[in-house]
Parts: sequence; C-alpha cells; structure tokens
Amino acid sequence: MSEKRTEISDLGEFGLIDHLNEKVIIKNSSTIKGIGDDAAVIDAGDHVKVVTTDLLLEGVHFDLSYAPLTHVGFKAVAVNVSDIAAMNAIPKQITVSIAVSNRFSVEAVDALYEGINAACENYGVDLIGGDTTASRSGLMISVTAIGEAKKEQISYRSGAKVNDILCVTGDLGSALIGLQVLEREKQVYLANPDMRPDLEKYTVVTGRQLRPDARMDIIHELREMEVVPTSMIDVSDGLASEIFHICKASKVGATIYEDKLPIDKQTFDTAVELNLDPITCVLNGGEDYELLFTIDQKDFTKLEKHPDIHFIGHITKPEEGKYLVTKSGTAVQLKAQGWKHF
Ligand code: ADP
Ligand code: MG
Repeated sequence: MSEKRTEISDLGEFGLIDHLNEKVIIKNSSTIKGIGDDAAVIDAGDHVKVVTTDLLLEGVHFDLSYAPLTHVGFKAVAVNVSDIAAMNAIPKQITVSIAVSNRFSVEAVDALYEGINAACENYGVDLIGGDTTASRSGLMISVTAIGEAKKEQISYRSGAKVNDILCVTGDLGSALIGLQVLEREKQVYLANPDMRPDLEKYTVVTGRQLRPDARMDIIHELREMEVVPTSMIDVSDGLASEIFHICKASKVGATIYEDKLPIDKQTFDTAVELNLDPITCVLNGGEDYELLFTIDQKDFTKLEKHPDIHFIGHITKPEEGKYLVTKSGTAVQLKAQGWKHF
C-alpha cells in the first residue's frame, strides 16, 4: 500500500499554516488571538501582550556574500518589531536564538549582535534571552518579540469595514528592487572577480533590502493623533498579498488606485533599468515592512496631511471583489502573487 504524499508546494506557505491550524485547539481563556494575525494576543489583566516570531535562514532569507552580518542582525529584529507594530502595539522584549556553524568566528557573531543590539536600542526593546546551538551548515536566526497595548488599541487583520479607507505608509517595491540589484552585482562579480560592484547609485534600494526599518514611528504618531486603525498588517509579502489577507480576515472586498500607489524615484528608475514593471514591483515585491491599514472615514482629516501615509483605496463589500483601477480607469482583478518560499 502506497503512503499518500502531498507536496508542500501544493498547499503553499499560507495553505500549510491553515492546514496546521485545523488541529489546534485553544485551551486557555487568556489566549485572545492565536494563529492567523501578525502576532498572537494574550490577556495580561489590565493590558494585552502580543507575541510574534520569525526565522531567518542563510541562503533563503539572506546571502552573506552581500549582506553584512550587522545588517542581518538588525533586520532579524526589525521584521519582528514590524509584526508587533502591525498589531498597533509597542515592542518591549525580544529573545534571540541562533544556530551557527564553525565557519563563523566569535567576531562574526559579534558583528551579528552589533546589529541586534543597535535594533534593540532603536526600538527600545530589551534582549531577555534565547538559545545557542551548533549548525551543520550556515547560520539561522530566530527572533521572538513581545509587545504591549491596551486591549482596545489592538488592530487585527479582521476589523476592516465597508467604506473604510485603505492606507499604506512609506513607499513600496524598493526592497525587491534592492534584492535584484544585489543579485545582479553578485553574478557580475562571480563571472569576473576583478569587477568592483557599482552600488553607489542604488543605496536607497539596497539599504531597504539589507536593513529595513519597522514603522514604529507611525504607531507612535497614530497614538498621538488618537487614531486606531480598524485593521492592520505589515507588508512583508507584497501589497496585493496583504490586501488579500485583510479582505479574507475581514470578509470584505477592496479597490485600490494605481495613481495613488507610493513608489520611490530610485526604485521606479531602477525597475525600468532592470526591465521590470514598477507597478508589479509595488504590488508583489516583498519585504517592504511598511504598514497597510484601514481607517474609519471619520479619522481621515486627522491623517490627511501626514507626509508618509498614502490613501490608496477603500474597502468594499465582499461580492465586489478585489480590484486595481489603472491610470486609464480600467479595473483589473488583483492577484496575490506575493513572495513565496515554497
Ligand atoms: P507574518 O508574515 O506576519 O510573519 P506569517 O504569514 O509568517 O505572518 O504567519 C501567519 C500566522 O501563522 C501567524 O499567526 C503565525 O504565528 C502563524 N504561523 C506561521 N507558521 C506557523 C507554524 N509553523 N505553526 C504555527 N503557527 C504558525
Ligand atoms: Mg506580518
């Protein structure tokens, strides 16, 4: 009798998580939210704790032939802080676990921790523990971040309502373009090691790939302006994919407008140079770590003048689907291609 074998690629990353979640039974009343958002939410009496974890693997998430270890350390913390931000919470503590092979020296681990400590300083979090183990090959870093908020401040993926305004911070697609540039220069270098990579022109995009910043600044500003997003997610897999997550969790549709999508000039120019469609990069580029959120229309005037918050569309009824209205006025169905590792 042959055993049934299902390829992970048949389910995809999100399908696999849904599959695992089917067997999970929540037993504790303090578990307010388990699997399915940017972070879990735990009742802590007068406030809630939020917890998230992310794993970075050498060769999958970073390439040490162009990523300095210090940046890898910073990024490992920043991507977790970004998930805490996406819950509208404030990060307080992290744990860091590493697996290192004998290819790495103490100085190399020091460089990694220089970045980790810089991020802790930057986001005001304490490194409170972790684990260290040997690895057969390469470097692995797993960070868990813990944050805090009042229960009513938490923004879930599931809270978007019809007519809410869809907002996104910063600009999109830069990290993907940065990755393309770094990969191209790596190939040039491998083909001819005498060639010095020419990266001067690309510092914005490569910086966004190698050392992304979590948007805690926006979370603090939203508090000052007394705006609680009705829903929120961070853009780690690409805008279109994140819109799908919000629509699925909130049981709504969405319409976004091409002419409202934020793209940096260097990102646009470099995309064109690489023969990539800039809008496709904005929609499907990963690792931007910007925030995508929805607000009630009554809050619009509070955010209207913010230089780094862009109003890209609105929430519709679920039967209206998910659409991008192009500059020429045509509505095209959004596809969640995202950033897939499987
Ligand atoms: P993000 O991109 O915000 O880090 P993910 O897509 O990685 O979110 O994860 C979505 C949800 O699935 C989160 O709630 C996360 O904790 C959960 N999750 C991911 N992988 C696993 C796993 N192997 N087992 C249990 N839960 C998981
Ligand atoms: Mg996230």
